Amino acid sequence: MSEVGNEPREAMDYDVVIVGGGPSGLAAAIRLKQINPDFSVVVVEKGSEIGAHILSGAVIDPIGLDSLLPGWRDDPACPLKVKVTEDRFYLLGPSGGLRLPNALMPPLMNNHGNFVGSLGNVCRFLGSKAEELGVEIYPGFAATEVIHGDKGEVRGVVTGDMGVGRDGKPKASFTRGMELHGKYTLFAEGARGSLTKTLLASFGLDKGREPQKFGIGIKELWRVDPSRHQPGLVQHSFGWPLSASTGGGSFLYHIEDSQVLAGFVLHLNYSNPTLSPFDEFQRFKTHPMVRETFEGGKRLAYGARALTEGGWQSVPKLVFPGGALIGCGAGFMNVPRIKGSHNAVLSGIEAADAAAAALAAGRAHDELSDYDNGWRAGPIGADLKKVRNVKPLWSKLGTYLGVSLGGVDMWLNELAGLTLFGTLKHGKPDYATLQPLGSVKPIVYPKPDGVITFDRLSSVFLSNTNHEEDQPCHLKLADPAIPIAKNLPVYGEPARLYCPAGVYEVVYGDEAAKKDPRFVINAQNCVHCKTCDIKDPAQNITWTTPEGGGGPNYPNM
Ligand SMILES: Cc1cc2nc3c(=O)[nH]c(=O)nc-3n(C[C@H](O)[C@H](O)[C@H](O)COP(=O)(O)OP(=O)(O)OC[C@H]3O[C@@H](n4cnc5c(N)ncnc54)[C@H](O)[C@@H]3O)c2cc1C
Ligand code: SF4
Repeated sequence: MSEVGNEPREAMDYDVVIVGGGPSGLAAAIRLKQINPDFSVVVVEKGSEIGAHILSGAVIDPIGLDSLLPGWRDDPACPLKVKVTEDRFYLLGPSGGLRLPNALMPPLMNNHGNFVGSLGNVCRFLGSKAEELGVEIYPGFAATEVIHGDKGEVRGVVTGDMGVGRDGKPKASFTRGMELHGKYTLFAEGARGSLTKTLLASFGLDKGREPQKFGIGIKELWRVDPSRHQPGLVQHSFGWPLSASTGGGSFLYHIEDSQVLAGFVLHLNYSNPTLSPFDEFQRFKTHPMVRETFEGGKRLAYGARALTEGGWQSVPKLVFPGGALIGCGAGFMNVPRIKGSHNAVLSGIEAADAAAAALAAGRAHDELSDYDNGWRAGPIGADLKKVRNVKPLWSKLGTYLGVSLGGVDMWLNELAGLTLFGTLKHGKPDYATLQPLGSVKPIVYPKPDGVITFDRLSSVFLSNTNHEEDQPCHLKLADPAIPIAKNLPVYGEPARLYCPAGVYEVVYGDEAAKKDPRFVINAQNCVHCKTCDIKDPAQNITWTTPEGGGGPNYPNM
């Protein structure tokens, strides 16, 4: 029961409830209806429309779409039109760089046959396909609670109450949330899903697995000078501006209409609390070999999103009585390939197949064991197993040795199914990797020029983020004293820097003397990337869903 409104919620019954309208959730919905048009299937999506909260690269491996909608290439409504024409990999130094010969790259890194475009638009396309098949889609509705039955089994979800004031009291616009009951509920919330996190804990799904690892991806959409544009060009870099012990790299994808998708992924196991992923990305754009892409261009959109990086050894148990995890909520991202959307679609298909078989057999609210037992031997397992040691090698050995040995390991895996390392562990979770301020060299970032590099606030403006201001803060502090009492003296309160939207600030009563600090949360700026929930060293911040429809409104990210 929520804090406000005691009247019972309206309830609706479905065969399958799906939380999240990303590629995994929509693929599951489509597959269920393809198998049996009589199944009742509902998708709830917290974004104001399907695609509004989707932020990806994206170079898309078509294996998932080929399996789900074999005719998609000939469908004029499908927005994925640009084939990858050229792959380039660079190792950057401060003033120059080295292009790595493509022949050195393991074949699985080759993007030949892949497509480049906006995953948000692909989701809009999948959403319309799902609706044509009779799936009920409710955008603007966040699932806020899991409904458990008497034996603990999952029986559906609750959507959040609307019209609750900052003080927790109902406003004139108050509308009670709904209960969506499902024989099975599929959680497709993407990386660090808020309900998925509670399920991992309540069912112990990650027991005996390596900790999940994460990165933060920051992205801008640019329209560039046509003379600097080459449709289908896919360019990745590693090295500068990051130190050799900080993992991450850039992507520049040239899509249609002189648009370039520019982004930077920073691994969240970084140790220097003065590091700012946002500012590293801004700095990257000033590199002499990169800058010219943006000169004479215009930035159109901005956003950020966490991604999972733990891979094979971090995938939790996927099923529990009454439901399953799919997509990046399950951790199906292939990190060296920076691709997860294909596995998101494939996992949606596999979970839907298991749910459809169970429904056909008259079952409900039990475990979809076939899905959990099957994925390691199927295409998702084949994709993730080969690269399982790459991320641990990067983390343990740093950029140069780690990337080189990771490359050798991928070659060996591809050529002979061998690895030199068995299955490596990831070590500490990302929240535990920061060093105290006193033991690091502070990083100082140049001021933005407003032309190629920008500040956080003008960036957030381009994410079209919008939240109802008079609502309870959706960023919950377990102990409100920790940011100032502990995080500030030990780490300089790293939330000020890792948050890509300027949500967290430390404001001083006496700025000059740095006295009377106060922790301020500008929750209305939040772009739902989930980094604070992952990286806060005290694990004191819990990201919860704000009122449905709030958050970014990404155009084609
Ligand atoms: C910067 C970056 C670059 C990437 N590049 C690539 C790439 O080039 N190629 C590639 O294949 N993959 C790439 N990926 C990964 C890819 O984006 C993911 O693998 C994919 O989006 C996962 O799909 P999903 O359905 O699991 O989750 P998501 O795409 O995250 O979708 C989850 C959806 O669920 C909604 N939701 C979450 N919680 C709730 C809730 N409680 N109630 C209602 N709705 C909810 C969200 O709003 C969202 O719409 C990249 C990711 C990032 C961040
Ligand atoms: S508040 Fe948290 S989830 Fe929101 S943008 Fe900042 S780091 Fe991301």
